[in-house]
Amino acid sequence: MGLYDKFSRLAGEREQFQTSGLNPFGTCIDEIYSATEGRIGDQKIVLAGTNNYLGLTFDAQAIADGQAALALQGTGTTGSRMANGSYGSHLALEQELATFFNRPCAIVFSTGYTANLAVISTLAGPGAVVLIDADSHASIYDACALGGAEIIRFRHNDANDLERRMVRLGERAKEAIIIVEGIYSMLGDVAPLVEIVDIKRRFGGYLLVDEAHSFGVMGENGRGLAEELGVEEEVDIILGTFSKSLASIGGFAVGSKAMDVLRYSSRPYIFTASPSPSSIASVRASLQKIAQQPELRKKLWSNANRLYNGLAQIGYELGPRISPVVPVMIGSKEDGLNFWRDLIAKGVYVNLVLPPAAPSGVTLLRCSVNAAHSDEEIDKIIQAFAELKK
Ligand code: PMP
Repeated sequence: MGLYDKFSRLAGEREQFQTSGLNPFGTCIDEIYSATEGRIGDQKIVLAGTNNYLGLTFDAQAIADGQAALALQGTGTTGSRMANGSYGSHLALEQELATFFNRPCAIVFSTGYTANLAVISTLAGPGAVVLIDADSHASIYDACALGGAEIIRFRHNDANDLERRMVRLGERAKEAIIIVEGIYSMLGDVAPLVEIVDIKRRFGGYLLVDEAHSFGVMGENGRGLAEELGVEEEVDIILGTFSKSLASIGGFAVGSKAMDVLRYSSRPYIFTASPSPSSIASVRASLQKIAQQPELRKKLWSNANRLYNGLAQIGYELGPRISPVVPVMIGSKEDGLNFWRDLIAKGVYVNLVLPPAAPSGVTLLRCSVNAAHSDEEIDKIIQAFAELKK
């Protein structure tokens, strides 16, 4: 048997997508002009398939600070923080994140994926029990697998199902680790955190919330869903990424003072290179923007409303609530692929999501808006969908 034989079905399927023009799973965006505009081939496009929620990828200060760090501190750290040392800017950013969240401890990781891997796999080792939402991001699943804990999945956003499973755990519920996300990246829906916190109060356990898509987006200060719902004190660890609202790359965890021990016990923290000085510098600039410019969040939500309502009016089936992530449900895989290509031909780039990446076996076009989209750009997206409506 050849090394890649077991992938032949997948390769065949992907080949099919490839031969009929653009490949949705390997799209090359040939040029990026701004947070909202780019070019694919000869087609100028509105970017409506990113996680750049606050539109900060071209923020002048983030670019200037990144450039200055590049010139002053070099292109990369070339090593891990434990073996090779942290830079002052890693520690400064950790202090700034801790202050932003009003928590004693913040740890910076190389990506959001690594943050989840590092924190969850270390806490959820053999003998531990983890309860995760069935629609959890791959990094949460992978972290659980790496840790070796007993994994219990509860139905997506179903607090009653979580409670039933906590009841079944008996005494073990007191030490169970519950993991949910803020905004879910495919449907744009949010975890029922108030109900989950109530379950935690009654049964015990610990609560970790991955605010990857809700940090910078929700809450009066942009701290995420837990802030928006007033339950931050009940969340033991908040996890996040720099690759979405913070428009760079890296990840973080904030929690109690005791969380600092993860630096000495977590392999995904210890055995990988730390984020480059330029990434960290850009993140620090963007974190300031989140703290000081709530109007970015306001514009983001105004854009989310405009897109969601516009598409709903044409008659599309959308996600369950208005959110910066607006999924449009499409019939078959083939319909999805054709629709996705037709949208590019009309100058609109979104993400094609097929099952199992899309929950519940649906094919969807994941649209996302950001604070930098103009009304005209949002209307162009709506118009393209209107013209393609069967
Ligand atoms: N958690 C969630 C919920 C995510 O959606 C993602 C990325 N899409 C990550 C973690 C990983 O973040 P990163 O891209 O920084 O590795």
